Amino acid sequence: MSSSQLNASTLYIVATPIGNLGDISQRAIDILTQVDVIACEDTRHTGRLLSAFSIKNKTLSLHDHNERQRQDQIADLLKEGKSVALVSDAGTPLISDPGFHLVRHCRQLGLSVSPIPGACAAIAALSCAGLPTDRFTFEGFLPSKSGARKTTLAALANETRTMVFYDAPRRAIDTIADIIEVLGGDRYVVIARELTKTFETIHSDSATNLHQWLSQDPNQLKGEMVLIIEGHKVDPNAISPKIIETLKLLVAELPPKKACAIAANIYGVKKNTLYDIALTMK
Ligand code: SAM
Repeated sequence: MSSSQLNASTLYIVATPIGNLGDISQRAIDILTQVDVIACEDTRHTGRLLSAFSIKNKTLSLHDHNERQRQDQIADLLKEGKSVALVSDAGTPLISDPGFHLVRHCRQLGLSVSPIPGACAAIAALSCAGLPTDRFTFEGFLPSKSGARKTTLAALANETRTMVFYDAPRRAIDTIADIIEVLGGDRYVVIARELTKTFETIHSDSATNLHQWLSQDPNQLKGEMVLIIEGHKVDPNAISPKIIETLKLLVAELPPKKACAIAANIYGVKKNTLYDIALTMK
């Protein structure tokens, strides 16, 4: 497909820059120029983006409060053969942004939905964090109140995958204090602030050191931020009573090899260490 070919009756999910306008793709420009209408969170905000690229096109507001109502209107346009683009204020629509209900509605009606990929703050931050990316979990926005935030963090205390959050830099000191309290001061944390913008800062350290660094530099509490927390590190030789209990249940139902593979996967421990224990259980 050439970069400028537009399909009729298609909803395009178009990523836009998260700061640096140079990050828009040629395909995004082509699609935004050619579709019949652009659904966006804030028509004035998107208007500024469009005028930066001399795109003159109609916009239609679609935000959390009117998405259900708009989904029928947009589906009707698509059924008539029109093409529609969905953008959010920044980055990839639907990623902590509106659009899920619309996309689900269109897919349920058998209408085409096609991505025009581009910037996403979570992925941009992850790509520079220096933490494992083979498996990670995106947790969206952390709660703004400390109590709820600590509950969220406590539920993730044993998560072994790298964890990616959106958070406001103005709360960063409090958030890091909660991380220290719930996950421990040694936990490695990355702050990716103002990505692709003039004051882009990517800083990583133990939670304790990061807390100190943030407390000394009020400039770090401005703008937009992605927070990445290293997954819980499991000592491959430490087999807790909980693992033994799970292994016992699995061994009762499955061959030892299979039981060990499942338990090892759940708890992030070595299969071989479990195998010796499993053999004593049969
Ligand atoms: N859909 C967007 C995406 O694909 O990244 C995210 C939208 S969400 C409403 C906005 C949050 O994304 C911000 O509060 C911040 O946590 C993060 N974010 C957006 N732009 C950023 C940037 N340039 N640098 C760091 N974080 C950013």
